[in-house]
Amino acid sequence: MLDRPLRPSPISPTVDFSAEGVQHGFLRLPYSRDDSAWGSVMIPLTVVKNGEGPTALLTGGNHGDEYEGPIALFDLARTLKAEDVTGRVIIVPAMNYPAFLAGTRTSSIDKGNMNRSFPGAPDGTVTQKIADYFQRELLPLADIVLDFHSGGRTLDFLPFCAAHILPDKAQEAKAFDLVSAFGAPWSMKMLEIDAVGMYDTAAEEMGKVFITTELGGGGTATAKSAGIAKRGVANVLKAAGILKGAVEAAATTWLDMPDGNCFSFAEDGGLLEPLFDLGEKVGTGDVLARIYPAGRTGAEPLEVKARMDGILTARHFPGLVKPGDCVGVLATVVG
Ligand SMILES: [Zn+2]
Repeated sequence: MLDRPLRPSPISPTVDFSAEGVQHGFLRLPYSRDDSAWGSVMIPLTVVKNGEGPTALLTGGNHGDEYEGPIALFDLARTLKAEDVTGRVIIVPAMNYPAFLAGTRTSSIDKGNMNRSFPGAPDGTVTQKIADYFQRELLPLADIVLDFHSGGRTLDFLPFCAAHILPDKAQEAKAFDLVSAFGAPWSMKMLEIDAVGMYDTAAEEMGKVFITTELGGGGTATAKSAGIAKRGVANVLKAAGILKGAVEAAATTWLDMPDGNCFSFAEDGGLLEPLFDLGEKVGTGDVLARIYPAGRTGAEPLEVKARMDGILTARHFPGLVKPGDCVGVLATVVG
């Protein structure tokens, strides 16, 4: 543990989180730099409050090159009316705002990966300061937390909403109920490669009901994936009793990532030839993809084999692959 009390966050909100009605404002983070000596990073946010009730904290742009979340949340922020809300909705469409503006996964200022920066630090980098503000100021206000992700520029996913297996089974059940309400075409019991420093973990350790998504990828959004995000966030707010109206039911198929065998990594670099597309069935030992050495013709490609049976749920997006890249992720259909 820390041997000294943490200093206050340098971030100041331009909204009052306890005020009734709709407020559009910013989280203002002082950032002194060459082109603005006393400048700030201005992270847009909207707070909608109406009376007593639960608080939902909604975030996109945790990674700056993932777009379904920001699309759904900029849209929700401009359309959500206080009279349709019971409780409070806090909307931050682009959490790692410098990364979002640069269209990159990590911050253009400090290269910080927001989802590896928790609990953050009030005297750290810009990314760590944003993480610290969420850790100590925003997460404690929330009952339910929805953090949108997609594959970004280097991965592409089947569109799914997800929650984690948790030690607290009551907390876990509430999260999976919201995943079900979200109504993405696929719903996932999600395993992380490395959960340390994640916003997910911070929220779950605080006892919050946390759900996330992977809704596509390749550094863009489609009409279909943006539509899934918009319907999903409205459904989650309705299921939580925060937004008026009935959940718009949608068929979903449940998937499970049972263990680390679901991930396949490249052991060499080169030209990637996919042999399966997203949503296709794969058997143990099947060749998921070939990697051709790019330096010469006539050389045999490296085969990347599946280590379990499952549905191809995620794949490497760019046409060239590097050693260590995640080539594919498999998941098993539940029930
Ligand atoms: Zn992400």
